[in-house]
Amino acid sequence: MLSEAPAAAAGTAAARRWAVHKFGGSSLADADCFRRVADIVAELQDPCLALVLSACRGVTDSLINLVTAAEGGRLDTCRASLARLESRHAAIADELLGAAERNAFVALLQSDIGDLERLLHAVALVRSASRDIRDRAAGFGELWSSRLFAAYLGARFAGRAVRWLDAREVIAVEWGPLGPGVQWGASRENTARLVGPDAAGVLVIPGFVASDTRGLQTTLGRNGSDYSASIFAALLRAREIVIWTDVSGVLSADPGQVPDAKVVASLSYSEAMELAYFGAKVIHPQTMAPAVEQDIPIRIRNTFAPAEPGTLIVAEPEPGERVKGITSIADVALVNVEGAGMIGVPGTAHRLFGTLHEAGISVILISQGSSEHSICFAVPAAQATLAERAVRRAFSAELRDGQIQSVAVDAGCAIVAVVGDGMARDHGSAGKLFQAFAQAGINARAIAQGASQRNISAVIDGREVSKALRAVHSAFYLSPHTLSIGVVGPGTIGSVLLEQLDSQSERLRRDFNLDLRVRGIATSRRMLLAGQAIDLADWRAHLDRAGEPLDLERFTAHVAAEHLPHRVIIDCTADAGIAGRYAGWMRAGLHVVTPNKKANSAALAEFRRMREARRAAGAQYFYEATVGAGLPIILTLRDLRETGDRIREIEGILSGTLAYLFNVFDGGVPFSEVVKDAKARGLTEPDPRDDLSGMDVARKLVILGREMGLELELGDVEVESLVPAALRDCSIDEFLARLPAEDAAMSALAAEARREGQVLRYVARLTAAGRATVALERLPAGHAFANIALTDNVVRFVTDRYCDNALVVQGPGAGPAVTAAGVFSDLLRLAAGIGARI
Ligand code: ADP
Ligand code: ASP
Ligand code: MG
Repeated sequence: MLSEAPAAAAGTAAARRWAVHKFGGSSLADADCFRRVADIVAELQDPCLALVLSACRGVTDSLINLVTAAEGGRLDTCRASLARLESRHAAIADELLGAAERNAFVALLQSDIGDLERLLHAVALVRSASRDIRDRAAGFGELWSSRLFAAYLGARFAGRAVRWLDAREVIAVEWGPLGPGVQWGASRENTARLVGPDAAGVLVIPGFVASDTRGLQTTLGRNGSDYSASIFAALLRAREIVIWTDVSGVLSADPGQVPDAKVVASLSYSEAMELAYFGAKVIHPQTMAPAVEQDIPIRIRNTFAPAEPGTLIVAEPEPGERVKGITSIADVALVNVEGAGMIGVPGTAHRLFGTLHEAGISVILISQGSSEHSICFAVPAAQATLAERAVRRAFSAELRDGQIQSVAVDAGCAIVAVVGDGMARDHGSAGKLFQAFAQAGINARAIAQGASQRNISAVIDGREVSKALRAVHSAFYLSPHTLSIGVVGPGTIGSVLLEQLDSQSERLRRDFNLDLRVRGIATSRRMLLAGQAIDLADWRAHLDRAGEPLDLERFTAHVAAEHLPHRVIIDCTADAGIAGRYAGWMRAGLHVVTPNKKANSAALAEFRRMREARRAAGAQYFYEATVGAGLPIILTLRDLRETGDRIREIEGILSGTLAYLFNVFDGGVPFSEVVKDAKARGLTEPDPRDDLSGMDVARKLVILGREMGLELELGDVEVESLVPAALRDCSIDEFLARLPAEDAAMSALAAEARREGQVLRYVARLTAAGRATVALERLPAGHAFANIALTDNVVRFVTDRYCDNALVVQGPGAGPAVTAAGVFSDLLRLAAGIGARI
């Protein structure tokens, strides 16, 4: 029995004693879930608690499917499904209840299953089920879950009064064209009789079920337990309603469709109503009315994360985002009625919608241009044919006489709606919405905005819902400087770049609203993809665990996600095949950043194709780290040219490896020893011939030449290779073994230079006329190139402006940290190019 509350509090306006908590099916999947819910209830200190429960997850669907199976005469299916329902509930009871309670519950369960079986038999006989029968069957889930929970809670809360209250004896409804209408007078009387003004304790109540005017069991419609909760809150004059579910509140979009959706802190009743109407399944639209009437706050909370604050729904929430959510309704048909005869004829809309009303069709959205030449409206796709027939019948005369030319139906549509009270306050929401559509290539077929300006909705092709939701969500919620990044080739440079990104991305987000999201990493064999972003602190382990075989097409498509405003691939390989893909990537809307020299030093025709693609697509392409690692060489060259200077000559030491070799080699220690030592220190390519051949330097010279506007091919560069002809084709080991044979010649060169007061340097030269050479030279000891340290690169630009004294850029030109930093700076340059204020 319920205990009596203190008399002083009873019945007064101040005595809003009850709190109503509703637990959805998603919170009641199994015995563990029941325990979790009881833990939450145990924390609630309210002396008067009404707990409204849904059926266990999926049970209502199963019950409704049973009726459909019986209509099809499939009684075997029914029996199997009934057995599953019985054993599932009995198993929960086994786990949670003591023997006596368990037996009592199972006896009731079995008797209900028996009733259901007879009901289904009857349906199978006549092969059809009325709504009464459907409602009767569908409501069993709530009866079972709530009885089970009441028994469990009663035993667990020995000190608190726990009572199961049959909602069917309380809520009286009358079904009408707008759904179930609560009979408030009768329901209030029932409440007074069954609960009483002074009652206290814990009431456990089945949601979803109610009684109709004949006293027969009915339901409040799908997802109706939310509505039950707010009806009980009104009847009990509750202080608050808490709806417990499996997400941490109302999200800015359906998390199943938009991975970036975030919890909305607060909503007005009207906003929540619109969101619910336009498809946010987290709350039932009718839930709002009883709460609004009594100004009862509703909070949506997460059973699985009870510490989180959730979403508060009240009359006047704290000012927040202007757009609170983006929703969609699938399976919609768009009906377009067109005809010059409708212009200026009063009452056409009235006739049209009157007809639809009579046919029992619910119109979801209406749009009419001011010319009145056409009216279009959206209805559920399942009612499309019915709607078309009704309209054709009602306007048969006008159709015959040509005043109405066409009634066109497109059943494959969906509606996307943007909701927020703030849209009336601030301008530009519609602009943002349609710009997002345009960018994602989505066509809005019909548009409606209510005069309240709380909602803008658009009818689109049903196949594009996900794309549309993501694009619109990004436009309203993401930083406009969000970059979807794919890194190809996380080797020496790539992995250091990922470390650098990891350490800096938080600061860049905070200070510049720049959101760098590495969403894909690809090695030569595997790839790792993430919806939002890969955790860079842990990417290697993650790739090992969750990586999949490399599929570059899928990798690219993933990085090119339409819903993120900008996308870039960072190619950290040295691979010509990957470089060959840049043009395609650019055409697909991706920017490219790379330290890979292969694209810019490829055959001119191919290079031009890539440059054309870049121009046509408006893509950005940065490759500073292809020459001189992180040194600003390309940038300097470009600045000189763009400001109208004329480059006369470029000369430099462009290989960190060769710089090192000749900084160390002075004829003392044999050259072959210096090479082996450099290799051991990781300063050469795995095959030192790649450096010694001079081809790497030649490529860099081609890149600089093309930057100058020269039509230079790799073959045009005169290259003096330091690899003796006899050692070009052997293995690396053999090369290293036979290299000492050349030491005498190299030592002689060095000795000769020293005698003349000179040093040996491997120098690249390029003139405005296009002469390009790469060779081992003897330079005076006082020359700028003679006095560099370790792996320093140095480049001299002789130009019209810098002619007496050349412009020199010098500094370390190799090493993972500086090269990765060069790539990183390119990425930031790209971000600045898309508007980030860095
Ligand atoms: P319950 O069983 O608790 O009533 P529902 O499944 O009816 O739960 O509703 C919660 C689900 O609604 C969430 O798991 C989520 O996937 C979905 N959903 C759709 N749109 C939204 C939204 N805008 N905000 C939160 N959840 C949403
Ligand atoms: N169990 C019912 C349904 O699934 C009601 C609810 O859970 O809200 O529709
Ligand atoms: Mg629900």
